[in-house]
Amino acid sequence: DLDSAAATLPSVSKSNIERRWSDITSYATKKKVQSWFQLPNGNWELGRIMSTSGTESVISLPDGKVLKVNSESLIPANPDILDGVDDLMQLSYLNEPSVLFNLQYRYNRDMIYTKAGPVLVAINPFKEVSLYGNDYVEAYKNKSIESPHVYAIADTAIREMIRDEVNQSIIISGESGAGKTETAKIAMQYLAALGGGSGIEYEILKTNPILEAFGNAKTLRNDNSSRFGKLIEIHFSETGKISGAKIQTFLLEKSRVVQCAEGERSYHIFYQLCAGAPRALREKLNLMDVDEYKYLKQSNCYSIAGVDDAEQFRIVKEALDVVHVSKEDQESVFAMLAAVLWLGNVSFTIIDNENHVEAVADESLINVAKLIGCDNAELNLALSIRKMRVGNDNIVQKLTLSQAIDTRDALAKSIYACLFEWLVEQINKSLAVGKRRTGRSISILDIYGFESFDRNSFEQFCINYANERLQQHFNRHLFKLEQEEYIQDGIDWAKVDFDDNQDCLNLFEKKPLGLLSLLDEESTFPNGSDFTFANKLKQHLNSNPCFRGEREKAFTVSHFAGEVTYDTTGFLEKNRDLLHLDSIQLLSSCSCHLPQTFASNMLNQSEKPVVGPLHKAGGADSQKLSVATKFKGQLFQLMQRLESTTPHFIRCIKPNNSQSPGSYEQGLVLQQLRCCGVLEVVRISRSGFPTRMSHQKFARRYGFLLLENVASQDPLSVSVAILHQFNILPEMYQVGYTKLFFRTGQIGVLEDTRNHTL
Ligand code: ADP
Ligand code: MG
Repeated sequence: DLDSAAATLPSVSKSNIERRWSDITSYATKKKVQSWFQLPNGNWELGRIMSTSGTESVISLPDGKVLKVNSESLIPANPDILDGVDDLMQLSYLNEPSVLFNLQYRYNRDMIYTKAGPVLVAINPFKEVSLYGNDYVEAYKNKSIESPHVYAIADTAIREMIRDEVNQSIIISGESGAGKTETAKIAMQYLAALGGGSGIEYEILKTNPILEAFGNAKTLRNDNSSRFGKLIEIHFSETGKISGAKIQTFLLEKSRVVQCAEGERSYHIFYQLCAGAPRALREKLNLMDVDEYKYLKQSNCYSIAGVDDAEQFRIVKEALDVVHVSKEDQESVFAMLAAVLWLGNVSFTIIDNENHVEAVADESLINVAKLIGCDNAELNLALSIRKMRVGNDNIVQKLTLSQAIDTRDALAKSIYACLFEWLVEQINKSLAVGKRRTGRSISILDIYGFESFDRNSFEQFCINYANERLQQHFNRHLFKLEQEEYIQDGIDWAKVDFDDNQDCLNLFEKKPLGLLSLLDEESTFPNGSDFTFANKLKQHLNSNPCFRGEREKAFTVSHFAGEVTYDTTGFLEKNRDLLHLDSIQLLSSCSCHLPQTFASNMLNQSEKPVVGPLHKAGGADSQKLSVATKFKGQLFQLMQRLESTTPHFIRCIKPNNSQSPGSYEQGLVLQQLRCCGVLEVVRISRSGFPTRMSHQKFARRYGFLLLENVASQDPLSVSVAILHQFNILPEMYQVGYTKLFFRTGQIGVLEDTRNHTL
């Protein structure tokens, strides 16, 4: 019986598995089965093993070529019946080439979604695929389609929210351009379709064009790249209808406002405004064409293929109406945008032989002053001097050219970042969930994935730290699920070990000797520099296995997804992110309400514990939370929120770097599968019993191979007989209450026998 069958199973030893592995390969040779062979360019080809002698095998490739290769380099391929399975876990051999091939097989047929156990893998088609719209929504709602889809994930989330009365989350990750934002929108569409009715769903969908206009930009990787992270929490009433929503954003890249690389653009809204503002508005804001503004001009890129900025402007204004931003407020918003653009054109003249400057009182300066509502002279002062307190005296320090430019750019960045925050706040007011929060919620997280470039800076440092946190959440959840399934089916589950990334998280978070603490500490020292920061890291962290000091001002962190070397240039500056008190005071003295609001928001923030540098001359700068500390706080809050939800993971994959349809680069995909943890899922499963088949299905499929007649017996007995006849080693499988669980590769052997017998 079942219990005694399970009880006789010996524990699995690694050498047994390996011995069995060589059995499989020699079997493979006999039957000329398919096997993966890696070409010199790194791509995998499917070949048939013709013969094996010693360590060498002869294989034939589909194009007729015959090659002699090292047998150990061959990796078993899955039987044809498993081509394009919609869950990678159904693969008998869960190796990298098999996973890659399966995804590619589906991708070539416009099946861009595939499950990897509990995770949905989505490969960006870079073209319209007919998988969306009302008919599909209906079909997933009625469960008349079963193939993997974002809709299916959203549907499960709604059902589990209602059934279990637990909040849900849909966590979307992937590289820039992989399709996260599109995927988030597709999920939102499904939720809106199922939970709609009150009209609020329409408002929720309209937040997308607004946030994209203000927070997205064309980069070299993605024409519509989100430069912020976003969590949208959609609330449902007890009856399953959407009752409101709340948006939280993370780390807007504000440097883009004043500086962006050749071929990229600043935020869409600037170009939309310049292209689409009606005449009256143009006159009021003294708007010029995009190429007249230095901030927009520097990157030599004004338009995006296939995008009509003027039309987009109309869409954004309409969306602002929908989320109840008044016409007056909209005009104030546009005035702030124009002020930022004009600020970039403000220039300086040198007034003494110490290189001190004052702003040129030209059209640019006058326009900025007019748009924010202040005196020309006051604006000029705020940009060219700094007031400080030394002891009991107020002194005035004149700024040099480079200090003045920094001050001007810092003001432009702050105005923009405050504007973005203010907009999110207005949207949240409009979407606010009523006081009676009786229902449940589904949160959708669209956040930048792991980044590793040739040069990695503070932004990558923060982003990758966030990804470490998310990865831990992911691992713990998957591991738990896996374990639950074994326990449910009565399998004696010897713990499979999986890579915990706690060590790397500790490297970031430990106090006082972690990366974040040391960064904050150095940021408070007046004489702290990127160089002293890098040295401090080397001094305190060199013994940490996740850390390595590099030459010059660099250091390397071993992340779960690979090593990344960070260049500390600009770390302290970006972490402090200071706006001089003079600038804040200028904003608060403005006659327009938005600058005033921005100033008071900034001052409120400074009341919290400070990490800003204690200024040499007595602290005339606003002191506020450092960027890293603020981000860490947001992240902790986010994780806390996610912990209390049932998560659903979607991993977006970018199949090529040219944003083009139909091209699938194996190496690129593989690297992303590794980074986003899909191969980790595969690995976790492989160290367990990844192939599962119910007793019934197993008996039906292989029962006829039995030498004795077993027609009268129950499925479990038939199954056990098959296992015995084929001499499947006891450590290669487990018998559960309802299913048989197999180690990787086992079903492949049976399947081949079956095919040769049929
Ligand atoms: P990310 O947010 O990950 O940086 P996006 O979601 O902005 O990436 O996607 C980049 C581009 O890829 C989109 O602008 C769109 O052209 C294309 N894309 C992504 N997902 C899909 C999809 N499901 N169908 C069609 N095109 C898509
Ligand atoms: Mg995006």
